[in-house]
Amino acid sequence: MTGYIRSIRKILKVQSENKKADLHVHTNFSDGTFSPEQVVEYAVKKGLVAIAITDHDSVEGIGPAIKAAHGKSLEIIPGLEFTTEFENCEVHILGFFVDYTKKWFVQELLQLRQMRHTRMQKMIACLSKKDIKISMDDVKGISGEGSLGRLHLAKLLFQQGHVQSVQKAFDKFIGSGKPCYVTGDRISPVDAIEMISKAGGVPVLAHPHTMGKDKFISKFAKAGLKGIEVYHSDHGIAAVNHYKKIAEELSLLMTGGSDCHGMGKGRVMMGTVTVPYDVVEQLKNAR
Ligand code: AMP
Ligand code: FE
Ligand code: FE
Ligand code: ZN
Repeated sequence: MTGYIRSIRKILKVQSENKKADLHVHTNFSDGTFSPEQVVEYAVKKGLVAIAITDHDSVEGIGPAIKAAHGKSLEIIPGLEFTTEFENCEVHILGFFVDYTKKWFVQELLQLRQMRHTRMQKMIACLSKKDIKISMDDVKGISGEGSLGRLHLAKLLFQQGHVQSVQKAFDKFIGSGKPCYVTGDRISPVDAIEMISKAGGVPVLAHPHTMGKDKFISKFAKAGLKGIEVYHSDHGIAAVNHYKKIAEELSLLMTGGSDCHGMGKGRVMMGTVTVPYDVVEQLKNAR
């Protein structure tokens, strides 16, 4: 390789590293507080070149986000985040570049959201036994048409004065292992991996540190998992280095994102965890 080509490659590499992508963003089609239009506006303001819309069990926010980004220097990656369960452990699986218009896929997601509705009814019933009277309409007043989730319920519990903060709602009632934690009828990570692949997308394990079961990762890789989310708001330096090593060992892609929920988690996190645009190219090539 000549010195000229080497320096051109170096320039291109630096350019790519300067192009930042946040590959984990929620909208109000799940438990984020920003509409897809507000998400796009914020991402442009932050100077991001790409964001992945990754709502819980929903692809409804993707179309509006693509429309809002039209004519702007922002690429919208169609994605989602499946909630699944494996050996009594909650596992989140991200899907990137899914064909979100496929009828069977949209139908499967509708079923998962119906399951979220049933699960919410169970959580409301449990809280009622603790003399906390909440109606589904109250929860829907917070969630709107969004994929119903615990963050909506936590916010309501806080607003109605049953807990002193949104976090306390999880710590006291609906966090994993707490008295009104209801898992619902969940699919397995292998189902999610297969659905994402069938919809032409790339399955990636979300925030493995929160899952906390490293031994699962090689099993999921055998089922078709293509990457792990090494960079995430809940991952400190030690966790990042740990999951980088695992990704290298298993030849998995390394993605990253903020897991922004608008104001849903107290502050807007979009753009605080990013990866170089190169990772987006890698995901495109992995389809
Ligand atoms: P769901 O999809 O209904 O299971 O709710 C998941 C949402 O609740 C995600 O946005 C999580 O970040 C949030 N969440 C789950 N557990 C906790 C917790 N212990 N503390 C704060 N937020 C949590
Ligand atoms: Fe969420
Ligand atoms: Fe998640
Ligand atoms: Zn998320």
